[in-house]
Amino acid sequence: MKEGRGAPRPEKTCAACGRPFAWRRKWARDWASVRFCSSACREGRYSRARGLARERDGR
Ligand SMILES: [Zn+2]
Repeated sequence: MKEGRGAPRPEKTCAACGRPFAWRRKWARDWASVRFCSSACREGRYSRARGLARERDGR
């Protein structure tokens, strides 16, 4: 973790799936309140166990 010196983009950990995600431009105005990596996580549609196992499955 790089801190204290010009980190280009902040990161957070998603409160739903537990994975780290990086700042996105669409969150520029909202970053302080962003807690989820995606709308699925935000809306509670994300299944934690399934997501961790199938994150790259794509189906
Ligand atoms: Zn997530």
